Amino acid sequence: MIYEQPLYRPPSEARSLILQVTVGCSHNACSFCSMYKRKYFRVKTLDEIKKDIAWAKERYGGTKRIFLADGDVLAMETDELLAVLEEVRQAFPDVRRVSAYAGPTNILGKSLEELTAIREAGISLAYFGIESGDSQVLEDVKKGVTPEEMTQAGKKIQQAGIGLSATVIIGLGGRERWREHAEATAEVASAIDPVYLSALTLMVEEGTSLAGKIEAGAFNLLTPGECLAELRLLIERLELTRCTFRSNHASNYFAVGGVLPLEKERMLEDIDRALTDSRLLKGEMFRGL
Ligand code: SF4
Repeated sequence: MIYEQPLYRPPSEARSLILQVTVGCSHNACSFCSMYKRKYFRVKTLDEIKKDIAWAKERYGGTKRIFLADGDVLAMETDELLAVLEEVRQAFPDVRRVSAYAGPTNILGKSLEELTAIREAGISLAYFGIESGDSQVLEDVKKGVTPEEMTQAGKKIQQAGIGLSATVIIGLGGRERWREHAEATAEVASAIDPVYLSALTLMVEEGTSLAGKIEAGAFNLLTPGECLAELRLLIERLELTRCTFRSNHASNYFAVGGVLPLEKERMLEDIDRALTDSRLLKGEMFRGL
């Protein structure tokens, strides 16, 4: 199987077979993201994908989990995606979970019937970057949707029966909008009400337009303590039915997690302890490791 590098997957797909069915990201415009900047978006041909599946079947025929890369598989025409999922079903009869990244624009571009057919054909989990619920922040980072559209997309895909693992980014509003960002993000995430929610912390990547903005003094990064205060406000404001919340990514200064709303008080207490003792925070040089 030939992967077109670089290849990304969510941390929870570390043991999954990765099947690259698209290359790059159909949006590829977010100011903080460098993941697919060197790739032109394209959908691989069914022939290419079939060859990859045949190769993987010989070696990993008993696989239980498959992650469909790259950035946003729902950019594929529904018929093409259904054909790929049928190939996957036939080649890997033991597969229990097929997942993919899913962007809001492409979710909204599909009807509920199409999304339901995609779920019935095998995709049971989608990774969805909310990033922020604040309209100004979403516009600044060029996410391409409003908070209302983000909410609509998150609800729609779940309505089709596809589980949602959503992410938000602490620090994305900078010093200028940290409070608005935290409050509005809690509001949008609560309205979407995903089964999994992760809070990452902004890491600035070289060559992104955000890095340029910082250099020009137009965006001010939060300190580690400020990131933690923002995380606290976010968690405090979240109103979720039942969600596994995690903020233990390599980018985070402090690891916290639990089931919301059940463990909200304990999580806030953990953060309060870290807010009064900076020795509990991860050093800058260890972030990303
Ligand atoms: S949609 Fe996702 S992968 Fe694409 S540019 Fe934005 S953050 Fe990066």
